[in-house]
Amino acid sequence: MYDLLIVSGRVPDFEHNTWRTGPVAVQDGKIVAVGDEVRSTEARTVIDAAGKIVSPGFIDIHMHEEDFPNDGAHFEISVLMRNMGVTTAVGGNCGTHAQPIKAFREAAERLGGLPIHYYMLTGYNTFREELGLGCYDTATEDQIKHMTNRVIQEVRDGAKGVSFGGEYDPGISSEEILRVLAALDDQILVSMHYRTDAMKDFSALHEMIELAERSGKKFQISHLSSYGAMGQMKEILPILNEAIRKNPRLDYDTYPYAAFATSIGSAVFDEGWVERWGKGYECIMLLHEPYCGVRCDRELFEKVRKEKPDMSVAGFVMEEEDIAMAIANRYGMICSDGGTSHWKGHPRSSGAFPRVLGKYVREENVLSLMDALRKMTFRPAQRLGLEGQKGVIASGADADIVIFDPDIISDTSDFSEACRMPVGIDFVIVGGTVVLKNGKETGALPGQLL
Ligand SMILES: [Zn+2]
Repeated sequence: MYDLLIVSGRVPDFEHNTWRTGPVAVQDGKIVAVGDEVRSTEARTVIDAAGKIVSPGFIDIHMHEEDFPNDGAHFEISVLMRNMGVTTAVGGNCGTHAQPIKAFREAAERLGGLPIHYYMLTGYNTFREELGLGCYDTATEDQIKHMTNRVIQEVRDGAKGVSFGGEYDPGISSEEILRVLAALDDQILVSMHYRTDAMKDFSALHEMIELAERSGKKFQISHLSSYGAMGQMKEILPILNEAIRKNPRLDYDTYPYAAFATSIGSAVFDEGWVERWGKGYECIMLLHEPYCGVRCDRELFEKVRKEKPDMSVAGFVMEEEDIAMAIANRYGMICSDGGTSHWKGHPRSSGAFPRVLGKYVREENVLSLMDALRKMTFRPAQRLGLEGQKGVIASGADADIVIFDPDIISDTSDFSEACRMPVGIDFVIVGGTVVLKNGKETGALPGQLL
């Protein structure tokens, strides 16, 4: 008798680029049989998935984990991830982790587990901040050594890679990044939030391509759409595709929204941003009370930047056509770049994956369902060194599964309410345990820190 049997759903087979309709059997947290391999119809739980897709759980390769010290010991973004079908999330991106990995692990243990699996990077900019370096400061030799040791320690404690926030600390030099990376194993994942967006020139893109090549590491360019979806994507993609063809250890992720989000106090908004984007202050929307949903004028922008530098804001500066191009391109993965505080933030935090499947696959035919799922599961699993374990529905793989209705799946959040439930996600299963049942949370916490 199986623990769980999912019958009559359509299952993507990425390797053969086809759909199968056989049953999927789960036992002890693993997928143990698919299709003809299934020998019994007996199971403790049977899920009828007729008309639905039975996909590997989505892997969000770029998001921002809970900040337990500042926001309190409760799950927030990982709950939103679970609700939209994500079963593995990669935190610690853009150069920032919210707490050292040991503290994250301890907090999760105290809370009794995790809603989903986490795969954590360590954020390099966090160590610059620890040393009191200003964002334009150049680190000394000794400081770089010290920070490299901090990265190495985090990796020993369980971090799977390191992230850099080039735009947040313009003082980090390329050489500094290469020095840090030279001290690390080749299996680690590196992600980088570019130096500056592509309005003026593509130097930040070339810098990342060069860093990937010279370091030899798996190098992930973070959220490409917020780098270059202001009308330049058709020029950026040929350069990037050629670089990836030459160096397959380079790739990127992208999210499906025409607005970015960051904190209003960050270096993104240092002198010159109004001229750079050629948009006025009204392109900035405040995302926290008492101004949640309010568009800025100069006076309000300057007041909030001074008084509440940590407030999240959205910048409506990107072009729809460019967003679609970055999603449909033959390389690249889907990410959310989500992160919330007190249940406020960007709607991508609760809607990125359903939005790709609803708006970009079903409504606009920007890419096929198979290709979209591949960019959400199979490819990121390979990227994280989890091939065979995650990102496939096959015997021996972990039973991380999402069952959704392709005819109705949609995101429902917006900038005034970022944490709504998406539509069309019926079941989410993490390590064989059902965490979302008929669209309702079960409260189970089977997720692990990988
Ligand atoms: Zn970023």
